[in-house]
Amino acid sequence: MLDAPTAMLIEVEKGNETTLGHIRDLAGRYGNRVELSDGSLYVTAWIIGDTRAFETRTDYLRGLPGVKRAWRVAAEYKNIARVVRSEDGRAHVRERRPVGVRGLDGHVRKFGAGKHIFIVGPDSAQDLQQVLTIARAAKAMAEKFGILDRVMLRGGAFKPRTRPTDWRGHGMKGVAMLDAGREESGLPYVTEVMDHNLVPEMAEHADMLQIGTRNAQNFDLHEAVGRAGKPAILKRGFGNEAKEWFYAAEYIANQGNLDIVLCERGMKTLYTKGGYCRFHPDFNVITHCRKETILPVIFDPSHPAGDHQIVGQNMIASLAYLADGTITETLHEEGFREQQLCDAAQALSMEKYSRLVEAVLEFEQKITPILREVSDE
Ligand code: PEP
Ligand code: MN
Repeated sequence: MLDAPTAMLIEVEKGNETTLGHIRDLAGRYGNRVELSDGSLYVTAWIIGDTRAFETRTDYLRGLPGVKRAWRVAAEYKNIARVVRSEDGRAHVRERRPVGVRGLDGHVRKFGAGKHIFIVGPDSAQDLQQVLTIARAAKAMAEKFGILDRVMLRGGAFKPRTRPTDWRGHGMKGVAMLDAGREESGLPYVTEVMDHNLVPEMAEHADMLQIGTRNAQNFDLHEAVGRAGKPAILKRGFGNEAKEWFYAAEYIANQGNLDIVLCERGMKTLYTKGGYCRFHPDFNVITHCRKETILPVIFDPSHPAGDHQIVGQNMIASLAYLADGTITETLHEEGFREQQLCDAAQALSMEKYSRLVEAVLEFEQKITPILREVSDE
């Protein structure tokens, strides 16, 4: 008996495209998707999504030519877990799975493929000039360091605010500014979506959708993002255990979308009251994500800081935990800080950000290989 949510694994002899095609068709019929992982003699087809209906066809699958085995396997987070178990207790381990975001420039930013991905931009798209200036600066910086395929933009258009009277973003007008930033630079962008009804429209614009900490358990939203089939950043709820975060990711994955990047952004704890720390960064959870899930995990150094002087320190600290990337809020010119309507205090100048990128690249060359070695990765 498998007492956790179940999934299916099918081993098919290599090169049997006809059978793989049948499996794909059947998966499609039940609203699932197939992910392949290559072995020496067999290809393993992982069926992604809610596989309960699909599993009723196990006998049919076992009878297809070239199928060596078809198993039901189980895990708490069945779509995203690194290890799932079959009924005989056997463990099946998956490799971590990179998530790609393609830019207009043709480059694919690959989270979880071994190199740090840099997401940079304003808290919010506040005016066109601001967005275009940051987009140009980010592109110039990426070109200078030869990392165009590792840089993308961020910017909020729909802003979740604690106080209802605070500025809540430009909405779709903000999205249009981000579109312009992409046109200008060729860099893809990520932006937050809060309303599940808006997901299809936002997905037509954004290259990647962000689910923010305040919507970390808004499951209608998660499912809509899952259905949109766009890569997504799922921030951890600032009061959520890692487990709750992983279940939240399952809501997206269960719709057949595995292109999820987890993002640690700090917790509300007893110790955040003194004012020196907006949120408490939980660095250890980055390692936990890598061990437990196949998903890339990035870190947000800005929101735990609340102060631009701490952002760089947070950013570099996350490298020690082998974060797959960072998402950082920046300012296009110092004079704008006093006009910035959200998160002004934690915005870092693009010049300082650029220095930090240099440091990350240096760290990646010299220290990361040693860290991987000593952490058995
Ligand atoms: C943001 O990215 O600006 C944001 C609101 O993030 P979070 O949901 O982590 O607070
Ligand atoms: Mn912000």
